[in-house]
Amino acid sequence: MTDVIIIGSGPAGLTAAIYARRAGFSVLVIEKAPVSGGQIMNTSEVDNYPGLPGIGGFEMGMKFREHAEAMQARFAEGVVEQIRQEGRNWEVATQKERYQTRAVVIAAGAAYARLGVPGEEALRGHGVSYCATCDGAFFKGKVTAVIGGGDVAVEDAIYLSRFCSKVYVIHRRDRLRAAKMQQHKLFSLNNVEMIWDSEAEEILGENRVEKIRVVNRKTGGREELAVDGVFIAVGIRPLSEAFTSVVDTDENGYIIAGEDCITSTPGIFAAGDIRTKKLRQVITAAADGANAITGVEEYFLSLPED
Ligand code: NAP
Repeated sequence: MTDVIIIGSGPAGLTAAIYARRAGFSVLVIEKAPVSGGQIMNTSEVDNYPGLPGIGGFEMGMKFREHAEAMQARFAEGVVEQIRQEGRNWEVATQKERYQTRAVVIAAGAAYARLGVPGEEALRGHGVSYCATCDGAFFKGKVTAVIGGGDVAVEDAIYLSRFCSKVYVIHRRDRLRAAKMQQHKLFSLNNVEMIWDSEAEEILGENRVEKIRVVNRKTGGREELAVDGVFIAVGIRPLSEAFTSVVDTDENGYIIAGEDCITSTPGIFAAGDIRTKKLRQVITAAADGANAITGVEEYFLSLPED
């Protein structure tokens, strides 16, 4: 029996692990892969975490993990398929193992949203990618397009501009939602071209991406851009499917929980990108990890004595 099982090893899960160990709890972190680390592992640079300006996402993920390991949090690999109540406790089941715990922190995060246009699935891995830092190096000297107008799209475009001959940024509105400082950086790059008010309609190519057809939402005009790669950055979707039977979620699948990370089910907490919140960043995920464990401590204190 573990005091706290933490599902996910991104900034939220690892911070929860550190706080839980500091509170004297036994902790098991269940992660998909030995170094899953969450979405920062796919981020080239994190420049808004105090004290660590410009740190690489991978390096940051590893630092968080090393800290949790140094605090003697235990780790197990597995994809959680179900959480089941057993009296006052919980059974957390992966495809291979079952674990018993007194409380659960769900910090399973989010994954890339799909665009849902023809060609996207067929050409995935053949020029269509959701991760510029993972796949960008394959496009040295080539022309790429980034779809989206958020932080990820803008960061991806800046990153790709370093080695692609040209980067189109295709955005459905006439204004980006990304952080202003990053926007200024993007607009200063002379190999980046903005395609405003436009949506990708189809990604075309025989065996590899060759073109993308975009339609202008204002004029209805269509054009085909010759590109070698398409990077899709149109937001994220919460990885909450396995948990919808134990906690309430909103219409987009986010687990409903406030700043205190308390869900609809006592004993189960939600932290990081998977919960309903306004600002999804490393620092707010880490804050959730701390708050979730404060919630766990209060929950344990509220339980009647055996
Ligand atoms: P996001 O902020 O939700 O932005 C998604 C972008 O894709 C928006 O510009 C949106 O357009 C566009 N979009 C959505 N659906 C679309 C569709 N079907 N067709 C075309 N465009 C579509 O998502 P994100 O950039 O992946 O970031 C996810 C979260 O992580 C955000 O909360 C972000 O702030 C955070 N993040 C923070 C940092 C950082 O602080 N350094 C870095 C990365 C990510 P509209 O603008 O028109 O809605």
